[in-house]
Amino acid sequence: MKIHILTLFPEMIEKGFQSSIIGRAAQKEILSLHGVDIRDYSLDKHNKVDDYPYGGGAGMLLQAEPVFNAWQSVTGGRAVRTIYLTPQGTPFTQSMAEELAGEEELVFLCGHYEGIDRRVLEETVTDYVSIGDYVLTGGELPAMVMIDAVARLIPGVLGNESSAEEESFFNDLLEYPQYTRPEVWHNKKVPEILLSGDHRKIAQWRLEKSRRLTEKVRPDLYEKYERKQRLTDRLLKDKRNYIHMIESLRRGRAEIIWWEGEDILLYDRSCKLCMITAASKESGRLMLAYAPKETESFVTSQVFLNEMLCGSGGSDMGDEGESYGGYEIHCECYQLVYTQKVPLPVKHKDIRQLTMEHLDYVGSRYSYDGREYVEARIREGVMYGAFVENAPVGFAGMHNEGSLGLLYVEEAYRRQGIAVSLEAYIINRTLEKGWTPYGQVIVGNEESFALQEKLGLYRSDRTVWWLEKIKQKGQA
Ligand code: SAM
Repeated sequence: MKIHILTLFPEMIEKGFQSSIIGRAAQKEILSLHGVDIRDYSLDKHNKVDDYPYGGGAGMLLQAEPVFNAWQSVTGGRAVRTIYLTPQGTPFTQSMAEELAGEEELVFLCGHYEGIDRRVLEETVTDYVSIGDYVLTGGELPAMVMIDAVARLIPGVLGNESSAEEESFFNDLLEYPQYTRPEVWHNKKVPEILLSGDHRKIAQWRLEKSRRLTEKVRPDLYEKYERKQRLTDRLLKDKRNYIHMIESLRRGRAEIIWWEGEDILLYDRSCKLCMITAASKESGRLMLAYAPKETESFVTSQVFLNEMLCGSGGSDMGDEGESYGGYEIHCECYQLVYTQKVPLPVKHKDIRQLTMEHLDYVGSRYSYDGREYVEARIREGVMYGAFVENAPVGFAGMHNEGSLGLLYVEEAYRRQGIAVSLEAYIINRTLEKGWTPYGQVIVGNEESFALQEKLGLYRSDRTVWWLEKIKQKGQA
């Protein structure tokens, strides 16, 4: 990821990260940090970049032109995600960090004095973000806070690949208390259960501690957690048809945007994906008005939603004449769920996680979602290859939103059980995480149904549709 920081104090950010984990990631070229001194773009021979606010008032403001020129110097006018740090922005959260971690390039704009001339913000900024309800002297510390939170989520930045699933805010819970050696300190003993070696019981104990702690210190978070649990329980009554929503909630990805009876709208921020099911046309139309405008894909459970999403603002739209159109149907799928808890046998022994050195191999054989998509899956560590004499002969993986897929086996190695082994391997990895493995198969792909059913996955009785935003001309 490329990160540019527009600031009056580039050395503050560069030095600040030098000796940290983020600095090491920059050395390893997993990310690049590039400080841009706004003063270098001053129009004034004394390098002045601030002036008095029109209308009076305390303090100075950064002028529009130097900020604009500094921004132009890194973007060349391209539409790069540009974040202005400001106490007036949306509060920064872990889910925002997760979403930003998926970007290739980010620009952070740090204000100083009393802030920045509004006009340049309107021309450059895509996101206004605050790190909390207090006022600091400049945007450098807030930018560093955000960069730290985002960068540690980029695969490869944390040496031990510690998982976000065990940290605070995952699934709206705070982390449980932790202990290390010695077993007794100041007469305080480590809780017995943690020494028992019983992983199931330890997990239960930790979950309970997390719940109690969150309920006590963050009742706002706890309420969100409880609501998601209630919705998950409800969806479990029709597991196969709603497995995409259930797993997205369980894996801590989906936010509930709307839930009233049978009307549900979930948003997975890191995939920019909305999942929606509606009891009627009217409620569907109402919910769509609440879908985040950044939504790139929809998974719908009813045909009438597709009509609205594919429309171009015709009479079927909201009363305000608002159009929800601009999407097109990508595919119609059945969902398949592995309902057992037992791991499957994996006959092919040489299955390994793929790395970037396999990008060309995978990219040239799986073109359905594009090379960038494949690259992101490899970086995430969710692509696996079957090898014969050290050469890959096939692969499979997990899609962005969590379903099984991206399957390919070399012609010469088909009908030898390699696809089954690859899928079984991924199913077992999914089970290890305490999740339910599931896949989505395009209607008509009988070969794939046969494979999934052979593995013991059960098919939904209804289909879902994937819709994608129609790209404007010139967009990648
Ligand atoms: N006059 C501004 C206001 O009242 O909203 C505050 C300006 S502050 C003194 C100077 C700069 O510090 C801001 O432009 C912003 O970049 C940064 N800053 C201060 N507090 C911040 C916060 N809580 N979150 C993000 N950035 C902040």
